[in-house]
Amino acid sequence: MGKIKNIGVLTSGGDAPGMNAAIRAVVRAAIYNGCNAYGIYYGYEGLVNGDIRRLESHDVSNIIQRGGTILKTARCKEFREAEGRAKAYEQIKKFNLDGLVVIGGDGTFSGARELCQEYDVHIVGIPGTIDNDLYGTDYTIGYDTAVNTVVEAVDKIRDTASAHNRLFFIEVMGRDAGFIALRSAVATGAEAVLVPEIQTDVNDLDKYLEHDYKPHKSSGIVIVAEGDKSGGAYMIAEQIAERHPEYDVRVTVLGHIQRGGSPSAFDRVTASTLGVAAVDALLDNQTSIMVGIMNKDIVHVPFNKAIKNSKPLNHNLLGLTEVLSI
Ligand code: ATP
Repeated sequence: MGKIKNIGVLTSGGDAPGMNAAIRAVVRAAIYNGCNAYGIYYGYEGLVNGDIRRLESHDVSNIIQRGGTILKTARCKEFREAEGRAKAYEQIKKFNLDGLVVIGGDGTFSGARELCQEYDVHIVGIPGTIDNDLYGTDYTIGYDTAVNTVVEAVDKIRDTASAHNRLFFIEVMGRDAGFIALRSAVATGAEAVLVPEIQTDVNDLDKYLEHDYKPHKSSGIVIVAEGDKSGGAYMIAEQIAERHPEYDVRVTVLGHIQRGGSPSAFDRVTASTLGVAAVDALLDNQTSIMVGIMNKDIVHVPFNKAIKNSKPLNHNLLGLTEVLSI
């Protein structure tokens, strides 16, 4: 692969606040470095079908503050098959794309890795998912905003919980990971948090509620990660309500509000930093890597590593919820 001249960018998988800030950074960093920028629409779907357009600096004006993604996103079955990726490669050649930046989660990186193995293409990934479940980076774009959205919602629920002496089970997103649940539990002063990484023991929760919650508190918040193995907020709430008819139990599933909204300052800065880092990496002839941030430094993590390894939960934070919920 010779000198990089044309850089394509796409967003793929679930949308996350801050994706637009990352697109803006990629487009402007490409142009700043004398390259042409191309937007690929609807993720891998647009790569397979050639839904690709040249983007100028003004095309990404006024988007840094917007949620969603101006390039749209999709889940593309065809790209999972070799024939689909062959079509994608035809489009890469047709548009003379020398480098691609893919913004998404581990599925997006798995697809990119396949394409890099099969063809001579240069691809750099930017971690964009509210779940924060990617190994090799402290933060993914969208996570901070999603946590702030949860905190705002839980604070409101706390008001009504407190007025009525109610115990709320609040389900938050995160797929198979408990990052959103854990961080928002600490930030809202939740009484307990249930995460998929740790087997939920209803008896432990029950004991805590009897000994610490019931005698001392007028409201209770239990944050439940959607991937928790106990079956979700409704299931666990039902079990507790059966054991304790005296508790006034309620359930709220926060759902898709967690994906939307204007990105936080933190996510905008992370997205801007990683967008520029991704273009730098391409210009440096790197490929099949994700750019991330570890201990405030930019890191390059091979797709293989980012996909295969699972990111551990912060056990200090887990300890905090226990200490602070008495
Ligand atoms: P999120 O974590 O937000 O869901 P993601 O990137 O993990 O984001 P996926 O739907 O898993 O989202 O993947 C996005 C797209 O990447 C898929 O629709 C598919 O086109 C492609 N993809 C995923 N896994 C593979 C794979 N093993 N081989 C080829 N392509 C893949």
